[in-house]
Amino acid sequence: MLIDIGVNLSNSRFDSDRQEVLERARDAGVDKLILTGTSVDESEAVVQLCGQLGERFPEMLYATAGIHPHDAKSLNGESIGILRSLAKNPCVVAIGEMGLDFNRNFSTPEQQEKAFEAQLELAAELQLPVFLHERDAADRQLQILRTYRDHLVDAVTHCFTGSREALYGYLDMDMHIGITGWVCDDRRGTELQGLVANIPLQRLMVETDAPYLLPKTLPEPPKGKRNEPAYLPWVISKIAEIRKESAEQLAQQTRANSLRFFRLD
Ligand SMILES: [Zn+2]
Repeated sequence: MLIDIGVNLSNSRFDSDRQEVLERARDAGVDKLILTGTSVDESEAVVQLCGQLGERFPEMLYATAGIHPHDAKSLNGESIGILRSLAKNPCVVAIGEMGLDFNRNFSTPEQQEKAFEAQLELAAELQLPVFLHERDAADRQLQILRTYRDHLVDAVTHCFTGSREALYGYLDMDMHIGITGWVCDDRRGTELQGLVANIPLQRLMVETDAPYLLPKTLPEPPKGKRNEPAYLPWVISKIAEIRKESAEQLAQQTRANSLRFFRLD
């Protein structure tokens, strides 16, 4: 059984067949999903999905509550209060996704840092683990994290695609690393493929980031190239191949890591 720690299930590309997506996930051995909250609205949406679908899919759906750096500009005087009350819902197991993304700067770096620090403070206050996003901003992100690390219970850098230096920066702070189907891409994922064997097994978790990042190793890509949690085994098998470990062992250990990290057991 596998745990997908990053699923954007509130995305409109799942509007027509959300239940079927979850059934296919279960059939593929993916029995727990952490739904990603990327803004106040999306966090409310994923918490609602946990409630709506929870009866049909018991102990399968969990959520994060947070503001993605792209949405940092939406932070207002009420945002943190709403996230705090969302986090009271038992399905919310982490604060995020949060962090810095200087790749596209949909929000200004100043807005991003403000939203990031406000959420780190919330996570420290609630003693909930942190779900991190970072692109082209490792130096600054690590700098900010260092000042908060002692107050945080745990953190995972989801969809890690960075440099060796960034990887060791996160690992030095005893943080976890989430790997997506990016690793299945022999063109964009080359650097990541070279780093995946350096992640201690106890620090590794896996995710699809669905509907994004469809694994390139799929023999027959689905129509529309939409990714979904049922494809998580392709991420596992690629990582296992690179690390020269059995897929079964990797599945077991990443599952144990996720259960511990999100306190699901
Ligand atoms: Zn992300």
